[in-house]
Amino acid sequence: MPVRPIIRLGHPALRTPAQPVPPERMRSEELQQLVEDMVETMHAAAGVGLAAPQVGVELQIFVYACQGNERHHDIPLHVVVNPMITPHSRELVYEWEGCLSIPDLRGLVPRHLSVRVQGIDREGGRLDYVASGFEARIVQHEYDHLNGIVFLDRMRDLRSLGYTEEWSQYMEGEDADDTAIG
Ligand SMILES: [Zn+2]
Repeated sequence: MPVRPIIRLGHPALRTPAQPVPPERMRSEELQQLVEDMVETMHAAAGVGLAAPQVGVELQIFVYACQGNERHHDIPLHVVVNPMITPHSRELVYEWEGCLSIPDLRGLVPRHLSVRVQGIDREGGRLDYVASGFEARIVQHEYDHLNGIVFLDRMRDLRSLGYTEEWSQYMEGEDADDTAIG
């Protein structure tokens, strides 16, 4: 089952806090397969991140990766398990976001410019690093999924919400990126 169906808003798993994974369980075939499937599902959906609840698995795991463009560098594949995300910068940045579980909508979402990421990787090793810019945005979006939160909940003004097609036509800035995060 490499590519799994992505559940959409309305499915209770998107509103349920995910459970931590016992570190030793990360080495199991079941969870290694889950990680592989999440990566394939993210790529198949042309997203830059995916959280386990989005494939109906209520565990604290997310993956992300992104090819560079004129706005940001390449972000290699990261697998983050049992994360704790804390703001590293007080500065909030507004950017457009979309979500694979809320297809076709874009809205302006404030996020911390940089965050500290702590947790474990897919082998159970310790993670502790600072993500900034677009990577910080992806991390905050995916971390929210592990807490039953979606980007709509983070919007300060719902008037910026729009369908992708209309957004491209009327709202998109020159430096906006038409990618659903995950
Ligand atoms: Zn999402």
